[in-house]
Amino acid sequence: MPSETKEALREAPAPAMDDTRPVSQPKASLRVLLVEDDANDAELVIRALQDAGFETTHQVADTREAFTLQIHKAPYDVILADYSLPQWQGLESIDVLREQGLDIPVILVTGSLGEVRAVECIKRGAADYVLKDHLTRLPLIVRSALEERRLRQEHRRAQEELLRSNRDLEQFAYVASHDLQEPLRMVAIFTQMLAERFRGKLDEESERYMGFVVEGATRMQGMIEDLLTFSRLGRGGIQRAAIDCEEVLRKALGNLAGAIQESGATVSHQPLPVVVADAALLLQLLQNLIGNAIKFRSAEPPKIDVSACQEAHEWVFAVRDNGIGISPEYAESIFVIFRRLHTRQEYPGNGLGLAICKKVVEQHGGRIWVESQPGEGSTFKFSLPRHPSASESEGDRGEEA
Ligand code: ADP
Repeated sequence: MPSETKEALREAPAPAMDDTRPVSQPKASLRVLLVEDDANDAELVIRALQDAGFETTHQVADTREAFTLQIHKAPYDVILADYSLPQWQGLESIDVLREQGLDIPVILVTGSLGEVRAVECIKRGAADYVLKDHLTRLPLIVRSALEERRLRQEHRRAQEELLRSNRDLEQFAYVASHDLQEPLRMVAIFTQMLAERFRGKLDEESERYMGFVVEGATRMQGMIEDLLTFSRLGRGGIQRAAIDCEEVLRKALGNLAGAIQESGATVSHQPLPVVVADAALLLQLLQNLIGNAIKFRSAEPPKIDVSACQEAHEWVFAVRDNGIGISPEYAESIFVIFRRLHTRQEYPGNGLGLAICKKVVEQHGGRIWVESQPGEGSTFKFSLPRHPSASESEGDRGEEA
């Protein structure tokens, strides 16, 4: 819950007990684990909840050991923890829950708590806090903590579902492209043989049709191969190591030497960092972006610049060109597999390069996007999280830059 909301809750006039219990609502059952050493306080807390319409069942734990044992005995809805107990800090219940992988909201119920300490508690993971002499607010706070948890769980479920369906799709793409290769190879070979055999023997229209069949089969072969390459990318995990991006750039430029020479491109770069990444995938990423910067050039010879800047938690790389540019309305769709803005006659390609870039970046936990306007060149940017184990070398290079 945003802190403003919490403040608003706190500043709102305390509702009368009956206000919090709409007459028509059935009683909500609530399993409470109290971290409390004072039986009277425990009773007051439970009564405040019952008066507001909760049907409570509760247990009490007043040491870390008892708490750790108890949380596995029942599926608790909420932990109400006294801030400081003689033998334990109630706030530590948050650490225990985290260690045990349990998502149960912890609300601190305390005699007094300064503003600074309250903020600390929320930062550490408490859902909220309530003062013992303002227990009328407890039911509201409990309801909103339960709602927050419901939303968190829904979000987690949606994410898991998305992950699962992505894995299924990838598996499907892999199997389909792999298994389609062989029959398609047959179609392509035999249509080519037929075309050879009937060359000059068919009427003009049939020759033309035959040309379409051969071309279509060859193109489909290319696409299936690309799809297979795409779904194989990073299959079985990525091989992370500390790698020097300047070295990777040198290799990419070496691989693109022909295109660079033929187009008269100049490629400059700023000092690039050492990052923890998969060297082969990063090479493919830079090579695709620079290759596109050359391919989608304007009438001018391509001018390309590669740079990286260090942000709080990530490196943001930029590959800038002076090419034809892209209209902002296509800024997202160009990263989708097989999505192209031009015909093959205008620019060769299958529309896979940027989809590969996106997959590589996302496998490393980063993002990729483009900033561009038609006729004004494009800047493709991607982020790579800075890895703690490589922070020293990254920092060194960052200062050089
Ligand atoms: P392909 O290069 O095979 O077309 P990509 O996935 O690499 O496939 O690119 C998708 C589309 O994005 C391209 O067809 C092109 O329209 C656009 N695009 C990519 N890079 C650039 C660039 N540097 N400048 C202008 N347009 C680009």
